[in-house]
Amino acid sequence: MTIPETMRAAVYHGRRDIRFEEVPVPSPGPGELLIEVGTVGVCGSDVGEWAHGPHQHPVDAPHPATGHHGPIIPGHEFSGVVVGLGEGVDERWRGSSIASCGSVACGRCPACLRGETNLCRSYAGVGLHRDGALAGYVTAPIECCLALDEAGVSLDEAALVQPMSIAVHNVARAGDVDGQTVLLQGVGGIGAFLVCALVDAGARVVATDRDAERLAIATQLGAHETVLVTGDAVADREGIVAAVGDDELRVVFEVSGSRPGVLSALDLAPRGSRIVLVGIQKAPVEIDLARFTLDEKVLIGTNALVRETDFPRALALIASRRDWEVIAPRVVPLEQLVDEALLPMSEGRPRAVKTLIDPRAVAARSLVGREESPAFSPAVAD
Ligand SMILES: [Zn+2]
Ligand SMILES: [Zn+2]
Repeated sequence: MTIPETMRAAVYHGRRDIRFEEVPVPSPGPGELLIEVGTVGVCGSDVGEWAHGPHQHPVDAPHPATGHHGPIIPGHEFSGVVVGLGEGVDERWRGSSIASCGSVACGRCPACLRGETNLCRSYAGVGLHRDGALAGYVTAPIECCLALDEAGVSLDEAALVQPMSIAVHNVARAGDVDGQTVLLQGVGGIGAFLVCALVDAGARVVATDRDAERLAIATQLGAHETVLVTGDAVADREGIVAAVGDDELRVVFEVSGSRPGVLSALDLAPRGSRIVLVGIQKAPVEIDLARFTLDEKVLIGTNALVRETDFPRALALIASRRDWEVIAPRVVPLEQLVDEALLPMSEGRPRAVKTLIDPRAVAARSLVGREESPAFSPAVAD
């Protein structure tokens, strides 16, 4: 199989400095796949790196686990087709369509041995700490890739499996939610995926947001009640309490990451409930811990995803529905990464819950579902 020597890539050089360059096609290391990229999702952490970073990208100093140092290709939510194999990889991977979650873990440290690979001592992310998928090709370890053969999802849909894994992990952190009423604060990005994951897990979902359009999407995805919040703590509380009704809230998912959001979560969570902090607070918040003791409330953190459990569950969830254009209506070419995704997202006016990039596309197009999905023909020839 002939693989070209160079490829087009979006290369991050620093804050607000992404350049579209011709760079060498990477070669897969031992246990890795060379993937011709199908579709890539752009997410909040990509926006954070572009607008305010580098935070995670090892541009200024080498990454302790990957050794990457310098400009980097982002893109950590992706799908594609396997066109090359590193040493020791089973020949059957060749030609497979895959989804990747980009999680790289050592498999040997105490956290990995406990099954918490997201907390690995030497955790690294493809597209965060080593070159990612906003390019023609990417390499990734087989452990963070799932073959799509049996799943029946398109390459566009497969790019949604990684963010869905984050939502599945949020739910796993909360524990059993079947038959329980949960409050979900913030449905703009990961919150929309969380609606799907919660509904799938049997929860009754009360969703809040400051944006009516996002709430309409949450309803389409299966949220049972929605409440438009305004920032007026008293009025918002009244609206949420009315939407919860006679049931008792068992879990509050705080996704907004805002200070009013976390204060509302702490206030609304009743005795014996769990609060899952999905959104990352930018500054410390004072908490009355006596209430946590006396009310037996539980505060729960959540970070990334467990590739061994959350990722396959997320693939099954993506395969179980066909309305993903609600979340990701448009797929745009690589060169529109900044104008169509990073810039509007950084200004709080994203074009959609999820903007997808197709590095092979020359013009913007709609999401392609599994029925209308054409057979993927790799650009390389045998
Ligand atoms: Zn992401
Ligand atoms: Zn480890």
